[in-house]
Amino acid sequence: MCGIVGYTGTENPIPILIDGLKRLEYRGYDSAGLALMNKSGEIKVFKTKGKVADLEKLIENKEWDAVAGIAHTRWATHGAPNTINAHPHVSGSGDLVLVHNGIIENYSILKEALIQKGYHFKSETDTEVLVNFIEDVKKESGKNLFESVQLALKRVVGAYAIVVMDKNFPGQMVVARKGSPLVVGIGKDGDYIIASDAAPIVSHTKTVYYLDEDELALLEPGKEMMVKTLDNKLVTPSLTELDLTIEQLEKEGFEHFMLKEIYEQPRSVYDSMRGRINAEKKQIKLGGIESYENHILESDRIIMVGCGTSWHAGLVGEYLFEELARIPVETEYGSEFRYRNPIIKPRDVVIGISQSGETADTLAALRLAKEKGALLLGICNVVGSSIARETHAGVYTHAGPEIGVASTKAFTAQVTVLTLMALRLGYLKGTIPQERYENLLQELENVPDKIEQVLQKDLIIQQVAREYKNAKNFLYLGRGINFPVALEGALKLKEISYIHAEGYPAAEMKHGPIALIDENMPVVVIATKKGNYDKIVSNIMEIKARDGKIIAIVTEGDQQVAGLADHVIEIPESDEMLTPLLATIPLQLLAYHIAVMLGRDVDKPRNLAKSVTVE
Ligand code: GLU
Repeated sequence: MCGIVGYTGTENPIPILIDGLKRLEYRGYDSAGLALMNKSGEIKVFKTKGKVADLEKLIENKEWDAVAGIAHTRWATHGAPNTINAHPHVSGSGDLVLVHNGIIENYSILKEALIQKGYHFKSETDTEVLVNFIEDVKKESGKNLFESVQLALKRVVGAYAIVVMDKNFPGQMVVARKGSPLVVGIGKDGDYIIASDAAPIVSHTKTVYYLDEDELALLEPGKEMMVKTLDNKLVTPSLTELDLTIEQLEKEGFEHFMLKEIYEQPRSVYDSMRGRINAEKKQIKLGGIESYENHILESDRIIMVGCGTSWHAGLVGEYLFEELARIPVETEYGSEFRYRNPIIKPRDVVIGISQSGETADTLAALRLAKEKGALLLGICNVVGSSIARETHAGVYTHAGPEIGVASTKAFTAQVTVLTLMALRLGYLKGTIPQERYENLLQELENVPDKIEQVLQKDLIIQQVAREYKNAKNFLYLGRGINFPVALEGALKLKEISYIHAEGYPAAEMKHGPIALIDENMPVVVIATKKGNYDKIVSNIMEIKARDGKIIAIVTEGDQQVAGLADHVIEIPESDEMLTPLLATIPLQLLAYHIAVMLGRDVDKPRNLAKSVTVE
């Protein structure tokens, strides 16, 4: 979490930094700040509680001949989200200024030692400790900034992406990363723009270097970048050309990124399949994992690891892999997995699922599994991300940049990729009858068109939203492969509308949640034709008998549930295994419209941030 931007070069840094922060605001929006340095080494810091727009107001009309600047949008971990705790943080002497994304785990020991030496602290952050610690190491060692950062970071425990400036060397910047992402954009005029992801960089340059774990870089305008590891090994950076356009980062007429991203799903699901299905030959080709297919087929079990929405995708994957490829699967929360001494054997395959590819809990779980000898696969959306790099192999989702904090198109893209993997493995293993396999391939290719049809139900969904927007609680029910869809629907509503919602397997309702049902409880039920239809009809009857309100997601033309439910939203018929890709869409729209009607900040819901790079 937290977005950082830095610029050093001949342009005015202020608009570059503000524009960059706006593009990174999905990473956190508790406070925002920036520091500017002019060629005489004077530093000016502006910071404020609140969002980037507040910072923009604060620096309105503040012209300055700055040669470099660093900026930050915060998701607080250490200390309240107020102005004092906002970044950038300046060292005690006023020489160094720093922005940080991550957590310094041993900050209290370092702070104690610095206090003993006479240092004073204004904020409660771990970041202020870090900037003073670097200053102290610099003083004690007599080394330059780069070497001092290197020495200091060797004694730091935790995760960080940092950008530091020293007033004695105006224009120079030292950047470093461990655990949190950092990208260096290399401008044509010898300038540099640094950011937590590529979004702030793409309008300046397409040539970037994704800083690797435990690497530092020294950036000086007009000079070649120097990259070294923490252990002082010189690195020859392999540069990447960005495949990203500004249009992909704009709202393009939609009121919110979330709505744009919901509507992009026909395309993002298609893109996640593109080039991977050969309809004529009836083949699926997943280049990224091809050389590991036999290894996966011979494995004892697969463990899906994810957090939040990605965990739900993993659960859908569990149904897909078990049904189609007959491989036992367990789905785990990244955070729980690593802290309970899991039993992992070399014949296990662990699949890490993460939109950003930077989710700290998932990454930590994968590292643990690697130590224990498992094969690691990644399903990520961000190319070159930590999970993509640290896994043995993987499949990218190609959903395009997802800016809305509540994940939508990344989820359906993850499910698409998991479906392709399950089908491919099932085909190789011979666990899917040929006819079903061919039908599934055909149907999968039709999914983007079917999503388009579901999106046309938007007006009906808006009416439902209007009717229930003031409900205090919601229940979401589904069975089989649509149980995780119910969880995902409930999560979307909680995240962006702040209405309490629970997802349950429909049959579990009678073991407890049914006690909640009365005339004020809207219950969203995924009741598609295939897959336990009769059972779910009984569940609906049970809710109706207790005056609950039913909003049912049904297969087109359904009469039976339509006769029972208060509202029906139809989705096109498909194989049960593919229904999550369709049934998810109305639940995303329902959450979206309710949140908008309640006046919520849909793209930046309170307390949340995307790309959770802290554990
Ligand atoms: N730990 C730092 C703070 O609380 C940075 C937080 C972050 O990366 O989100 O200010």
